[in-house]
Amino acid sequence: MKGSYDVIIIGAGPAGLAAAIYTGRARLKTLILEKAIPGGQIMLTDWIENYPGFPEGIAPFELMDNFRKQALRFGAEIENDEVQSLERKGKEWLVHGRRDDYLAKAIIIATGSTYRRLGLEKEVRLIGRGVSYCATCDGAFFRDKVVAVIGGGDNALTEALFLTKFCRQVYIIHRRQTFRAVRILQERVAANEKIVVLWNSVVEEILGENKVEALKIKNVLNKEEKILPVDGVFISIGMEPQSAFLRGVVEMNEWGQIKVNRNLATNQPGLFAAGDVIEDCPRQVATAVGTGVAAAIAVDKYLSSLETN
Ligand code: NAP
Repeated sequence: MKGSYDVIIIGAGPAGLAAAIYTGRARLKTLILEKAIPGGQIMLTDWIENYPGFPEGIAPFELMDNFRKQALRFGAEIENDEVQSLERKGKEWLVHGRRDDYLAKAIIIATGSTYRRLGLEKEVRLIGRGVSYCATCDGAFFRDKVVAVIGGGDNALTEALFLTKFCRQVYIIHRRQTFRAVRILQERVAANEKIVVLWNSVVEEILGENKVEALKIKNVLNKEEKILPVDGVFISIGMEPQSAFLRGVVEMNEWGQIKVNRNLATNQPGLFAAGDVIEDCPRQVATAVGTGVAAAIAVDKYLSSLETN
C-alpha cells in the first residue's frame, strides 16, 4: 500500500486538477492518480479561446500546466498510475492501481470521456489542423469555410446545425440511408439550405499534409469514390466515458456516464464524480472545472460529517 489520503482524485484533466486545488487548499491530504500526462483531452487541441479570463486565448498546455502547478502549490500529490478497481473497506475506499494500492476516505472520479475515432491514418495528426471532435469548441475557427460532419446520431446533427452559424457549407457524411437522430433534428437538417447530406458514404482518407484539404469519400452501395474539398472535418460518432473500471460499483446510464446528484455525489458513500465522465456534462473545460470545484466542496463537507458522526 502506497499511502492513506483524505481524498483521491482519479484523473488529472481540468475537473480533477480544479478539484485538487480546492481540496488541497482546504488542507485535505490529496492524491491525484493519472494514467498518462496531466491535462486531459483538451491537450489534444492547439488553442483554447473560450475559457474565461484569457481574452486572446491560451495554449491548452500552458493552461493545464498552470492548473497542475496550482494544485501542487496547495499540497496535492500527483502519482502516475492507472486505476483498475475500487473496493469499499469499512468507511474508506481502497483504490487498486496498476502499480500500487491507495486508501482514501473519499474519491472524486474525474476520468473524462474520449471521442470515438474513425481510425483514419491522418486523423490524430491533423487534430487542431482541420480535424475536430467538438463544434462548440472549434466551430468559430471555420467562419465562411466548408466543413463535413461525420455521423448520423443526435450529436452529429446538432453539431452540423451549430456549424451553419459560421460555415458557408456543411456536409453530413453518414454511412447509412437513414439517420439515427431524433426526428426534430432530421427536420431541421432537411430545412437548412447550408447542409448537404451524403448518404451511404464513408470517409476513406483525410487528404492534406499540414491541414485538412479534402476527404476521399466512398459510396458503400455503388463503391464510387470521390474527392470532397473541405477545410475541416468534425467527427461525431459517439463518446466513450472512461468509466469501465467502475462497472458494478457505481450507478451509470446506458452510455457509461456516471449518475450524480446536485452535490456531485454518486450512489456510493464517499464517491463523487466530476467533469466529462458524469451524465450530461457539456464537454467544456469551464464546465469540467465547475463540477470539479463543486465536487471538492462536497467532499470537504462529507469528510466533516464523518468526523462529527
Ligand atoms: P449515437 O447515437 O451512437 O450515433 C453515432 C453515429 O455515428 C451513428 O449515426 C453511427 O452510425 C455513426 N457511427 C458510429 N461509428 C461509426 C464509424 N466508425 N463510421 C461512421 N459512422 C459511425 O451517438 P451520439 O450522436 O453521440 O449520441 C446520441 C444521443 O446519445 C445524444 O442524445 C447523446 O447525448 C446521447 N449520448 C451518447 C453517448 C455516446 O457515447 N454515443 C454518450 C452519452 C450520451 P449508425 O447510425 O449507422 O450506427
